[in-house]
Amino acid sequence: MQRFYIVEKEDLGSRELGQKIRTALISHHKEIDENNPQCVVTVGGDGTFLHAVHKFKHISEVVFVGLHTGTLGFFTNYEKDEVDTLIDHLLNQTPVIESTHLIEARITHEQTVTILEALNEVRIENIVRTQEIQVYINQELMEIFRGNGLCVSGQAGSTAYNRSIGGAIIVPGIDVLQLTEISGIHNKAYQSIRSPLVLPKDTSITLISDNFKGAKILYDHHVLDLDDVSKVEIITSTKKVNMARYRPTSYIKRLHCLF
Ligand code: NAP
Ligand code: MN
Repeated sequence: MQRFYIVEKEDLGSRELGQKIRTALISHHKEIDENNPQCVVTVGGDGTFLHAVHKFKHISEVVFVGLHTGTLGFFTNYEKDEVDTLIDHLLNQTPVIESTHLIEARITHEQTVTILEALNEVRIENIVRTQEIQVYINQELMEIFRGNGLCVSGQAGSTAYNRSIGGAIIVPGIDVLQLTEISGIHNKAYQSIRSPLVLPKDTSITLISDNFKGAKILYDHHVLDLDDVSKVEIITSTKKVNMARYRPTSYIKRLHCLF
């Protein structure tokens, strides 16, 4: 690969490591290209990786590789004392590409449909009032949910927000959509399924409400108001994120490093 771009977290340690990688690449006659990179290197955390994916996901061929400046992450394959190994791999080795599908949310507002994409999850949340949501799985009504909201994550996002709200961790190789409740109300008056629901990746999850006033749709670190929206459909996108793997990293080791 010839054209690289480095995305760093704001802190000094990440910026210094990013600069070290940049200098090494330039001294080996590689280009730093913000507009059309072939490889994006992230220095920071899984959050930094997410930010980089949102900045460059419009380039279908681009590959991502991450160095973590804290512990080992889920999107990152190098720890901070491995920066020289990463530079060596970038310069001298051909990676295996592992691709992960994005999640797509199609928001219907009057006659227009807005499409949003996420790597971790799409969630609808209303922290002001009880949000009622009709939940359709492949166009069949499953339940009427009441509570703060619902989260739909993929395999990659299963260890992120999904895990905080009691969702299952999904290991790589299992392509799914997982629907998880956010503070569901379960009492004599209101019931919903409560358990996280793991569905095949080609499932359509449609969330409809007569009133989304005050609700937000969050997609990774981005947010939009849902106020006048009536319907949100969530599916697996045909778009993929390509991750460069220069060596295998154990998923169990990643889990072990998580806490
Ligand atoms: P952020 O600070 O960039 O990320 C929040 C935390 O989530 C960080 O510790 C980050 O790890 C971790 N994280 C991100 N993706 C992960 C993944 N796939 N597996 C395991 N951990 C992951 O916050 P942000 O920019 O607002 O939001 C980005 C993401 O953060 C969202 O997609 C959401 O999943 C997650 N988030 C989680 C919670 C929660 O668990 N209650 C709340 C808000 C947001 P690093 O430290 O390695 O960056
Ligand atoms: Mn962030």
